[in-house]
Amino acid sequence: MTRPTMGAIDCDIHSAVPGLAALLPYLDEHWRDAASQRGVHDLESTSYPLRAPLTSRPDWRVPNGKAGSDIEQVRRQALDGFGSRAAILNCLYAVQTLFSEDMGAAFARAVNDWLAKEWLDRDPRFRASIVVPLQSPEFAVAEIERCAADRRFVQVLLPCLSDTPLGRRSHWPIYAAAEKHGLPVGIHAGSTYRHPVTPVGWPSYLTEDYVNQAQGFQTQLTSLVCEGVFNRFPALKVVLIESGFTWLPAYLWRLNKYWRGLRMEIPWVDRPPIDIVREQVRLTLQPVDAPVGTDDLMRVIDHMGSDELLLFSSDYPHWQFEGDDALPPELPDSLIRRMLIDNPLATYARIREDLS
Ligand code: ZN
Repeated sequence: MTRPTMGAIDCDIHSAVPGLAALLPYLDEHWRDAASQRGVHDLESTSYPLRAPLTSRPDWRVPNGKAGSDIEQVRRQALDGFGSRAAILNCLYAVQTLFSEDMGAAFARAVNDWLAKEWLDRDPRFRASIVVPLQSPEFAVAEIERCAADRRFVQVLLPCLSDTPLGRRSHWPIYAAAEKHGLPVGIHAGSTYRHPVTPVGWPSYLTEDYVNQAQGFQTQLTSLVCEGVFNRFPALKVVLIESGFTWLPAYLWRLNKYWRGLRMEIPWVDRPPIDIVREQVRLTLQPVDAPVGTDDLMRVIDHMGSDELLLFSSDYPHWQFEGDDALPPELPDSLIRRMLIDNPLATYARIREDLS
């Protein structure tokens, strides 16, 4: 390992539901019967086709299973491997792709109960994001309220590419519930696949899908800013997870410029978007979408204008770097300490209460 990560708070690792059978004990009788009578198949991830190279580093695969499905392997490779003091499980089981709101809610409940019993109960270093049925903001709020009592759930998880822009008022009850319980809203790369993953239609290849996720994050951030979510919920934190971050300075410059010219249209946005982002938005480190080992990365980070924006993440078990080198070598020690510990603690109140 070129840079040690001992004591880190890893803000993005992935536990995989091994298969539908693992959730059956956590579904009530009606939904167990419905799943078998309708022949419901195992759901894929919202963002990672099972056998694509990016989905798992070769040395982190599970023989005859999904990467991230073997808890002992995750403990050994992700927790012990990076010396993490805590790590947030973002389960990408695609409950948001179900067309039935009721079934989406039932599967979200099952995934969260499975996470609590099979993961959180088995290692105190694990934390988890609450999986919510975004199909129905009403059901999503009910699931946040149900899980919030368990303080090992530290965040609400949403897919980046949703059915409607996340700033729309129909989603605001989700932000109200998250803010009330001190839960950041984590937006992770991935899609409900109701719309093409590019603004101009369906692409042919995963490469195009994955690269275009950055545009999705920009669209959602613009929506959250312009619709006034951050003004209405001033204590809300939004974490962009697996978004990359090198696009942020140029994007913010553009957003700031057009806010200055058009702000009579959105008077509730009462301060420059760049200030809103610095106060209420954070981004996870991996995948680092800049050349490492050069000055270029530090120039981008300088342009971000704050050392409080980045949160350490390994994105285990996805294939974003080789070996144990989760930290780019050119980052200064002061920034590393902030990314590994200070920034995650400042972002996640529930982890702070627990570890401080
Ligand atoms: Zn991830």
